[in-house]
Amino acid sequence: MKISKILMALLVAVVITSSNIVSSTMARYTDVYSGGDAALIAKWNLGARGEDDIDGEFYNKGFTFDLFNGQSIKPMDFGEKSFTFRGGGSDVAMTYDVKMNAADLMQLTTAETKATIATEAGQDVFAPFIFKITAEISDGATDTVPTVFSPYTGSSPYYGTGWFRPKDVTADEDGYFSIFSGTPNFSAGSNDEVTITVYWQWNTSYYINDTNIAAVTAPHVVPADPSTEIAGRYLPYYQDAYDEYYGPGGLLDRYNAAANAVEDYLAVHGSPNADGTWPPHDIAADTPCTLSDAEHFAQYHGLILAANEALTACQTSLLAAYDDYDTFAVNALQARESVKVLFRVSGEQVAPQ
Ligand SMILES: [Zn+2]
Repeated sequence: MKISKILMALLVAVVITSSNIVSSTMARYTDVYSGGDAALIAKWNLGARGEDDIDGEFYNKGFTFDLFNGQSIKPMDFGEKSFTFRGGGSDVAMTYDVKMNAADLMQLTTAETKATIATEAGQDVFAPFIFKITAEISDGATDTVPTVFSPYTGSSPYYGTGWFRPKDVTADEDGYFSIFSGTPNFSAGSNDEVTITVYWQWNTSYYINDTNIAAVTAPHVVPADPSTEIAGRYLPYYQDAYDEYYGPGGLLDRYNAAANAVEDYLAVHGSPNADGTWPPHDIAADTPCTLSDAEHFAQYHGLILAANEALTACQTSLLAAYDDYDTFAVNALQARESVKVLFRVSGEQVAPQ
């Protein structure tokens, strides 16, 4: 009895883009003030570039940002990607925003289709992705670096890790939310460049507690662990569960020992008859076994019970829970045509005082 390791790959298609570097606000604004100030339509040069775009090139209409590098994502994968944007020396001051859309990475179960996690039915599964976003501003900048948002308060177990789950963020009806708190801006003529780095992980330790199954309820609550330092074969949170299961003296060893004990007992004492008696037998050459039928059955049933309990411990282990969760998520995401995470950069002219 083995828990299969998750090898299925998930193709997370591309992550893209912003076609929406908004300059339409400029036109609207100009309409309002057209009687007064022709300078308003002078130079509007908000632009952005992805990490893989040509060095130094900035694009005003859209940029390519392939968060997952078009690769097949599998459980426990992680990575990072950057993009940069700038005001580009526009003649007017602007506020800007970056909105993220991770609506494809939300709940995968439905009211009709629930998951069974470590033998417990009726569970919800989310795409177990977490993200961390950082912002930097170019050397010698005149404006200040924008503040990255957090959906958490200090009391959340996720707050201090700097990572967030898309499910914890309040998004608009199209699934977009701002990655900043406050309203950052470029002053008029600013050539500052802001670089956003998006770190991502498939990390089920951030999701498994929500199932509230026996394997993760107190005192077994799983600490959310974003560490990507791999000392063994897996990320630390998974390695712990793996060792508990496969390690020396672990759940699998205990099950095998209990199953062997049943076999050993039958090898010495024979098997019970269908009529509820135990056939007479020798336990050594010319040495009849002195145990009664009742004693045989009591010992035999005790060993069977122990083996069943050891089996249940395997099936309800944290490792089984991770594997069930990840397998459900992989299958649900694979069934989709594409899975995207979107970023949209926008700027809006600040009204002159
Ligand atoms: Zn016997």
